[in-house]
This record gives sequence, C-alpha cells and structure tokens, in this order.
Amino acid sequence: MSQPAGQLTFVGPRRAKPARHLADLSMADRRAAVTELGEKAFRADQLSRHYFERLTTDVSAMTDLPAAARERLSALLPDLLTPVKELATDGGTTRKTLWRLFDGALVESVLMRYPDRVTMCVSSQAGCGMNCPFCATGQAGLTRNMSTAEIVEQVVSGARALAAGEVPGGPGRVSNVVFMGMGEPLANYKQVIGAVRRMVEPSPHGLGISARGVTVSTVGLVPAIGKLADEGLPVTLALSLHAPDDELRDTLVPINTRWKVAEVLDAAWSYAARTKRRVSIEYALIKDINDQEWRADLLGKMVKNKLVHVNLIPLNPTPGSKWTASRPEDERAFVRRLEFHGVPVTVRDTRGREIDGACGQLAAAE
Ligand code: SAH
Repeated sequence: MSQPAGQLTFVGPRRAKPARHLADLSMADRRAAVTELGEKAFRADQLSRHYFERLTTDVSAMTDLPAAARERLSALLPDLLTPVKELATDGGTTRKTLWRLFDGALVESVLMRYPDRVTMCVSSQAGCGMNCPFCATGQAGLTRNMSTAEIVEQVVSGARALAAGEVPGGPGRVSNVVFMGMGEPLANYKQVIGAVRRMVEPSPHGLGISARGVTVSTVGLVPAIGKLADEGLPVTLALSLHAPDDELRDTLVPINTRWKVAEVLDAAWSYAARTKRRVSIEYALIKDINDQEWRADLLGKMVKNKLVHVNLIPLNPTPGSKWTASRPEDERAFVRRLEFHGVPVTVRDTRGREIDGACGQLAAAE
C-alpha cells in the first residue's frame, strides 16, 4: 500500500482500542482503578513498583500481594505487545524487535547500547500519516495511534532485557528514549505525553528516566510544538527539517504545505526559549537533492546564533526509493558551510542499517 504523494493523514481509520493498562494511568487513576477492582488503593503503589521497578507483570511472583488480590490486579497488566521477530547487529548491542499489537497491527522498536548510554527508539503510531517520500514508514500510511501503555511497554521490554543481562555489556538501564521509530509523535499528542510522563516520573509513578534523555522528534506540527513547550517537561525537541527552503521541503516533508519553514523554525526557537533546551535540527543528506552547498549556507544563516544543534543523517536506503546518501565530499562540504556560520553540527553515526532498523527504515514487515 502506498499513499498518493503529498497526502497527509491526521486521523487513522476507526479501530478498537487496546485494553487498559497500568501504564495508561496516572497514580490517582491507578488508585481509583484498583479500588474499582475491590482492592485497597495502596495496592496501586505496590503494583506500580512491580511494574516500573522490578519490570515484572507476572502477578504470581508478587508475594507481597494476597493471592486473591493478585488475581484481580492482573486485569491492569494485560499483555499488549507480542514479540514476532528480533534482529540484532553490532555484536548484539543493536536490537530491533517487531511487535504485534492486540489487533494485529505491527510496530518496531530498536535498542542501541553505547559505551556510556542505552537508547530505546520507540514507535508512537502503527504506520505514519505524514508521507515523507524518503521514509519507509511514511509509505505505508497510518494504521492507528498507539496507546500510552503500548508506547511505554516498548521501553519496559528493553529495560527488562538490559536488567536481565541479555544485552552484551552486562546488566544495564535505559538512559535515553527517542521517539524516532514509526509514527509522528505529535500527531498522537495525548498518548505520547502520557508515555513521556510515565518514562520520566520516578517510581512508583514511572520509570524515572531523566527528561533530558527523552527526545520527541517531529515533522513540525506547529500548534503541538507550542503545546509541548507548555507541558513543563524539559524533553529535547528534534525537528525533521531536511530542507531550508519551502520549495524543496514541500516535497520532502509534506506537512510543510501547511506550516512553512519560517513558522516551524519560529516554533522551535520558542520551544528552546521556554525550556532552555537545545533544539536538534534533523537533516537527512540525500544525494543531489538537498545536499548542495548553497542549501547548507541558507540553513546556516537561518539557524546561526540559536540554541540549536544540527544533526546530519546520511540517508538510509528504503525499498523502492531512487534516492541515496550524499557523496562523502558533499557531506564534508555541507558540514564545513555550517561550521563556517558557527553552527554546532554532527553527522549521526546511524546504527542498524543491516537490519533495516535505522532512521526511516522501520516498515514492520514480517
Ligand atoms: N515522525 C517523526 C519521527 C520519526 S522519524 C519525524 O519525522 O521526526 C525519525 C527521523 O528519521 C526523522 O528525522 C526522519 O526524518 C528521519 N528519517 C526518515 N527516513 C529516513 C531515511 N531514509 N534516512 C535517514 N533518516 C530518515
């Protein structure tokens, strides 16, 4: 299935919702849910510690709960993600998992272990409606939004594998989460914010990951960027720019037909001012499409002297696409032009290309 060029989809087809899970709920709502199940409210705290600290959903192992309570409370820990396939590379330190959701929808997450950190790349939607022509996810269209708990479960599963010592390098923890898997996180705003809260709040509320370690990446939904700035969550904002001029960006990132480069950059600067967080500008370098020196120059002028970091990503190949990564000399020239303007820039060392687990390659095929 593929979408007509430039078509944007904000709302997927109507679908049944996944079962309610502990991770969907704030602590107050968990207490209410536990009471509804006929248990004392403090059981919500116990259950939450099992889930967010010990990373367990097996109620039979929860020996601090009476047997009858275990049975009733298990209703708040339904299985939401079923692993279908796991692929690893980089000596087992990059692992992509394909998950089946309750209704058959497929999503992927990627765990990347580095010497000093572990990053989980998570999906926020099954498919994506933003239709960027160089991204494999965009080609399949939007299946549906994921629930808060479906998003959180991807991180919990990675955390569990790390805690169990299943990832080479010894037992570890998830330090970073990037919303750079499938989907446009700001098009599923409410569920994504819920998931971010579960990630950053300390136990028993959530996983206790530093908000600075969480990155929300967006094509540039301007009103939602404004809302995000007001949440009081100092997460890193990544803006997928990919072109400094409207003419080209209209075709590479079709949302640009609604909110132009100048508007989306303004939203990014407001976000930086509000949160004091450096905004990351994502720019996939595509050979002879967006990698000309004059475009680097234009980009440099537009972002210089801002609280910004430019992340250049060598384009990862996707099925059926005629585009490829830039020549090394063009990439170097692009970097040099940005440096000339004093703009902090790095070229992302993309991981997982061999397992179709790198940026823009997640298409969730079995
Ligand atoms: N919808 C969000 C998040 C998912 S994509 C967004 O667009 O930001 C995560 C990053 O990978 C984005 O910056 C996206 O533009 C980039 N990307 C997509 N396809 C790519 C490809 N084929 N090669 C390199 N980066 C790609």
